[in-house]
Amino acid sequence: MRYHGREVEVEGKIRLVMESALSARDRVGVQDFLLLENYTSEAAFIENLRRRYRENLIYTYIGSVLVSVNPYKELEIYSKQNMERYRGVNFYEISPHIFALADNSYRALRTERRDQCILISGESGAGKTEASKKILQYYTTTCPTRQNTSSIRERLLHSNPVLEAFGNAKTLRNDNSSRFGKYMDIQFDYKGAPIGGHILNYLLEKSRVVHQNHGERNFHIFYQLLEGGDEQLLKRLGLEKTNPQHYHYLVKGNCPRVSTRNDRNCWRIMTNALSVIGFTEEEVEELLDIVASVLHLGNMQFGENEYGETHLTTDTQLRYLSQLLKVEGSDLSEALTHKKIVAKEEEMISPLSLEQALSARDALSKAIYGRTFTWLVEKINKSLAFKDEPYFSSKSSSVIGLLDIYGFEVFQHNSFEQFCINYCNEKLQQLFIELTLKSEQEEYDAEGIAWETVEYFNNKIICDLVEEKHKGIIAILDEECLRPGDASDITFLEKLEDTLGGHAHFVTHKLANGKTRKAVGREEFRLLHYAGEVNYNVNGFLDKNNDLLYRNLKEVMCKSGNPIMSQCFHREELTDQKRPETAATQFKLSLAKLMEILMSKEPSYIRCIKPNDAKQSGRFDEVLVRHQVKYLGLMENLRVRRAGFAYRRHYEAFLQRYKCLCPETWPNWEGKLVDGVSTLVKHLGYKPEEYQLGRSKIFIRFPKTLFFTEDAREAQ
Ligand code: ATP
Ligand code: MG
Repeated sequence: MRYHGREVEVEGKIRLVMESALSARDRVGVQDFLLLENYTSEAAFIENLRRRYRENLIYTYIGSVLVSVNPYKELEIYSKQNMERYRGVNFYEISPHIFALADNSYRALRTERRDQCILISGESGAGKTEASKKILQYYTTTCPTRQNTSSIRERLLHSNPVLEAFGNAKTLRNDNSSRFGKYMDIQFDYKGAPIGGHILNYLLEKSRVVHQNHGERNFHIFYQLLEGGDEQLLKRLGLEKTNPQHYHYLVKGNCPRVSTRNDRNCWRIMTNALSVIGFTEEEVEELLDIVASVLHLGNMQFGENEYGETHLTTDTQLRYLSQLLKVEGSDLSEALTHKKIVAKEEEMISPLSLEQALSARDALSKAIYGRTFTWLVEKINKSLAFKDEPYFSSKSSSVIGLLDIYGFEVFQHNSFEQFCINYCNEKLQQLFIELTLKSEQEEYDAEGIAWETVEYFNNKIICDLVEEKHKGIIAILDEECLRPGDASDITFLEKLEDTLGGHAHFVTHKLANGKTRKAVGREEFRLLHYAGEVNYNVNGFLDKNNDLLYRNLKEVMCKSGNPIMSQCFHREELTDQKRPETAATQFKLSLAKLMEILMSKEPSYIRCIKPNDAKQSGRFDEVLVRHQVKYLGLMENLRVRRAGFAYRRHYEAFLQRYKCLCPETWPNWEGKLVDGVSTLVKHLGYKPEEYQLGRSKIFIRFPKTLFFTEDAREAQ
């Protein structure tokens, strides 16, 4: 990989300007947006991104925030050698890189003993998961090892292929789209060696198990099993037909194969990963029995008699299901076609219609898959836990958290899942605003520097609209879910209109003057998110939020002889009088916990950008990029950084780098550091308005001042 101009490396150091500063910058842009002359111009911002992208320079800073543009091709910048280059080196001395950010967090953890977190955001396909993998690779490769913990590195790395197999799928936006949110803590001991990890998962898109939109697939694991499983295994599972088209749950999207994915290879990697993580052969068998069961459930066929009662028309699937899930076939068949209600200690059984039976079956498939996924995460957590000290109680260790969570999502048709995903992004944006402004302010305060406030859009109003007690959208949804009688998706919409009509960020098709707004359908509501407008179709909101499974299906699953299933379905569920939290409320509570975790750590940000919708390298779609720059709040971020001081540096580091430019500070300055810096900058001709001296750092207001200093150093 060759860097041009500003970023050419000579003898292990980065030469900032090789040719004339201007022409080099013209070609490859600036490595930090703070250096843009015209920093308020969105066009200049995008042009800088475009130039760098053309030169395969996918990383650019906004101060300490890393902006990354998906290259859609393998770049040779992630080698072990390159990792070594970034160890212990300051941001501005070397070209921007995700390793620099990872190293920076690691050093802060080591020197300041403060827990860190790295928040990776961006829309679907922008490169969040790849970024999180690069960071994990960096730590597992470059950090010191502790005796007996080398296998923890392996396990940390191997958790990815397993979770991706079960939690990722091909969507229209991304061939390997994460359909769950993931927060992973990497735990380090006092010497900086990785010793453990812990994963929190958020809201898996379970509906994908039973339905996929055109051009999309179910979760990878199904295709991997069919493509990679050996004959004997498939025979045992009753899956001799290896063409995905034979399975009802795999045909909805009409997209069995994806050119960019090798299911057979992934299968090998995934099964190997299971054994590295510590799954026994029996556990792998039990897990695959469950995966196959879901396919059999999908293929069950039902008929309806003249009285509208439903029955199973073939028993092949039932036979396999009873073998694989180790349940009584007749119990399962009864539970799939009948409903049991317990009222006042009395049981009532009524037959289901065909439509109800199909939806009961789908609910069972979703429950089985969703709970297995949660089980999988817990199992991985046990394997990653540092054995000597239980997680969260260890005092001598510290953690770096990695957040790779679904980005803001807008489709033609947006449902409950998009509502939750976009709400999550509102929360993260709030955190970003609060923490970037807060930390900036804190630093100025700590250093005794005066600064001016910058206005920014506070999206708290949208978070409140969704989550406020009693009158937020989630509260109204829960209320409808609990209300007996005629509650439906449409009554939910009506209630939203009654309660929220007139809110600045909520609209429906009804206009105040009694006319109809054409852009919003009759079954939709529109939210004006910080990132743009999204219409949500209310169809399915109540069902998805209730996430109910008929009681008799639960009873069957509780009796399952498959040990994973018996850990997933508990008898207490049957006797527990308390209604479980709805899906949206669970999500809201888990997000609140996540915010607490993140607030307690020092954050770093990676903002990922997707350059085109065609998943192609070399294509930079300006309109698409502009939209992302806008909603990621990058211009605001830049403005905030620039309103204060573009650069800050510890006196020692500043003197070390530039002392050669002044005879009084060269070769060594013997006096107080602040006096040395003061002497140096006066010698360089800095004007008083260009800088301030804080308690431990020099603050430089304009990038051009630093530019000039760097150029002078290069000319030496
Ligand atoms: P989602 O929200 O859908 O999970 P994502 O932001 O996690 O999306 P990724 O899965 O990380 O997106 O990236 C999508 C694809 O883009 C990858 O499968 C890979 O092909 C390509 N890609 C992303 N980042 C890089 C990179 N740094 N180098 C090479 N290819 C990349
Ligand atoms: Mg992802």
